[in-house]
Amino acid sequence: MTNKNLLIVLVGLLAMRKALAQTPTMYAIKNVDIITMAATNTIVANATVVIANNHIQSINGTIPKNATIIDGKGKWLIPGLIDAHVHLPTDAYFGQKRPLQIPDLVFNTQDVMTPLIANGVTTVVDLDSKMETFGQKKAIERGDIIGPRIALAALINGGNGQGRLANTPEEGRILVRNAKAEGYDCIKVYSKLNIETYKAIIDESYKQGLQTIGHIPNAFQGKLEQAFVPHFGMVAHAEEFSKNADGFSWHEATKFAKLSKDNGTWLSPTLTAMVWIAKQTHSIDSIKNLPSLKYVHPLLQSKWLTANNYVKNASAENATYFDSMVMFHFQLVKAFKEAGVPIVAGTDAGVSGVVAGFSLHDELALLVQAGLTPHEALNAATLLAAQWLGVDKQIGSIETGKLADLVLLDQNPLINIQNTRKIAGVFVNGKWLNKTKINTMLTDLANRNTADKDKFNWKTIINRKK
Ligand SMILES: [Zn+2]
Repeated sequence: MTNKNLLIVLVGLLAMRKALAQTPTMYAIKNVDIITMAATNTIVANATVVIANNHIQSINGTIPKNATIIDGKGKWLIPGLIDAHVHLPTDAYFGQKRPLQIPDLVFNTQDVMTPLIANGVTTVVDLDSKMETFGQKKAIERGDIIGPRIALAALINGGNGQGRLANTPEEGRILVRNAKAEGYDCIKVYSKLNIETYKAIIDESYKQGLQTIGHIPNAFQGKLEQAFVPHFGMVAHAEEFSKNADGFSWHEATKFAKLSKDNGTWLSPTLTAMVWIAKQTHSIDSIKNLPSLKYVHPLLQSKWLTANNYVKNASAENATYFDSMVMFHFQLVKAFKEAGVPIVAGTDAGVSGVVAGFSLHDELALLVQAGLTPHEALNAATLLAAQWLGVDKQIGSIETGKLADLVLLDQNPLINIQNTRKIAGVFVNGKWLNKTKINTMLTDLANRNTADKDKFNWKTIINRKK
């Protein structure tokens, strides 16, 4: 073969490889009822949805010849779910952290993500991201790991200790600008910030185009209204209000709702986290008997069961107090809804008892229990959350051209919100995981966690490292 011919063959081979790599993966879900969650929300009955590459190519358009057909008859399609408040486990260091120290425990990224995607959670907001979280996000984007989209929040606190600390307005502004440069998506303000630093952080975040979410710093005790400065994006827990409440009354709830409404500040109540705090204060059995516990890393299982402050501080008095707080949080949700404050679903997954993925369905059910309609609860975990993140052009509803994050359900969630748990399959960025695949991934994870249980005793590991 001449050199010229060889070159032609090589170019041909390369073109073929490129074409193969770009061969679109196409799917068509036929005869499905779509709950679009679009601004002009409609239910599109008996529809055909074509997914090509990682986008929704058409709704009721023609089915491409090479598309894989998925039977949607009798099933319901909703947008991929968004959990606006998670803590993804990252490498763990026990004892003192030294420069260049090798982590004592590395979490398998797929194992961290499996419970999320298995539950149809295709986007999460990680509310205290580390450099390792960037690594997890990149691994998903490369396609090495099947996982959700991750929005990263940089947590800024005051006082002294570990993490990003700011005790002057200038320090606060610098940390916000650094976080922006590092690639964070939003800023989480925390409890020990002083008043002026907090205000500077909110202001600088706005200037840098970053959303703000967080705790209301303790410095605002007794003058809560002063924390509601322009551009404070979202309160991260209903508890931020209950700890500032002058008694758990409807009057207090409406007062807080008005404060938020007037300032344009949204609420992510994380009801499930408080419900779990209350449950554990009653009895550790609530954790022991939790069906989804087996999907949690065995070290964290051990921590939840043996080093649990809520259990340690359990008393009849505390249990009654947390129960009344849960009831007040329900009132808060109702009052915020009535005032017209947008409510976003977040779970605080990572808190003991709050299992990633599974907990979002608990939160949806609790939001409905608190007074949201099933449609409003779904909105809290889809379009509203996407709007708050500023990514509603890409995700949050089922519309042509959007990214293919979709959950196929066996039954209608608008009739009973518990039906969001009845998952027939999930599209994660255009990748289809049917029920069999999801169950295989979950069973494999649970089996390995259970087999490894004896290797991860929290107290032994912590004491060894002290
Ligand atoms: Zn949290």
